[in-house]
Amino acid sequence: MKMTVIKLIGFGIVLTGLLSTTGCELNNNPDPGNQKLTHKDSLCIMLLSNVRQDSIGLTVDKLTEFSSRFALAPNRKEIALAIRDMFKKVGYENAAIDSFQASKTWNGQDYTTWQYNVIAELEGTVHPDSVNIVCAHYDDIVTNGDPFTHAPGANDNASGVAGMIEVARVMKYTGYKPAISTRFVALAAEEIGLLGSADFAGKLALSGKPVNIVINHDMIAKVNNPNYLFWTMKIIFNANSFSLANGTSSLCSKYIGIYVLGDSTKSRKVDSYPFSQKGFKAMSFTSADSDINYHTTNDLTIYCNIDYSSLITGLSCVTLVYHD
Ligand SMILES: [Zn+2]
Repeated sequence: MKMTVIKLIGFGIVLTGLLSTTGCELNNNPDPGNQKLTHKDSLCIMLLSNVRQDSIGLTVDKLTEFSSRFALAPNRKEIALAIRDMFKKVGYENAAIDSFQASKTWNGQDYTTWQYNVIAELEGTVHPDSVNIVCAHYDDIVTNGDPFTHAPGANDNASGVAGMIEVARVMKYTGYKPAISTRFVALAAEEIGLLGSADFAGKLALSGKPVNIVINHDMIAKVNNPNYLFWTMKIIFNANSFSLANGTSSLCSKYIGIYVLGDSTKSRKVDSYPFSQKGFKAMSFTSADSDINYHTTNDLTIYCNIDYSSLITGLSCVTLVYHD
């Protein structure tokens, strides 16, 4: 696989942040030396210091308690409603499911189904009609068994949904007031053809709302080396989002401190792709490490590294601050 190295970071300023992040908070020691903190620095530190591993881990646990989250399994609405309630619990009374119909042939059988994206929004204070999007698919699939009965999907992609809900929680909890709106979307049916993102991106394009950036979380809990000095993430970007990915890599270097690799070879396989097809600047955050449990019944919480997930979650917070 061809990979573009966007940036390899140094560990100067970053170590401070990392050492405290792997504990519980990011800003135990945010002292940047003689540098003066900017307003954006202060907002980032406020959000980062409130990202909680236990909160992310709890959401991953709840999602993996469904025996399967396969998009064609009959419990998909139940899962969508549970995610809606998770948004409500962290302060988003406007959380709602958005249904669409999808047809799919699976193992020679035709399925016509209702699918359900789940949407929650933090309204912007200055330009509420403009939006930033954070999204993550909640369905899973397995290839070593029957996905209708068992598809736990902890890394893929309970981790991504949990990180997204944590961004939403932290923004609400801290009273962060973005100028433009932030819309959080738990996407259905990624594994059977990026169906949820295609539906949502299509409706978004039709609405005519200005879209600033789209961040997608896909599998953000897998690291093969427990030592954070080796932790690496990938930003999957499209033709129109290289500069977004590159700028995000710089933010990662400044605030988070894990290696960032850029990858455009997988752009058609993730939920950022349908957004880019509609002309929106979209990117996907994912672990750079291969997951031996990928699409198997062994994709379990015990193999997830939630400290790592919390760093990626923090990067999403920081990126939103800088694109407000
Ligand atoms: Zn998958």
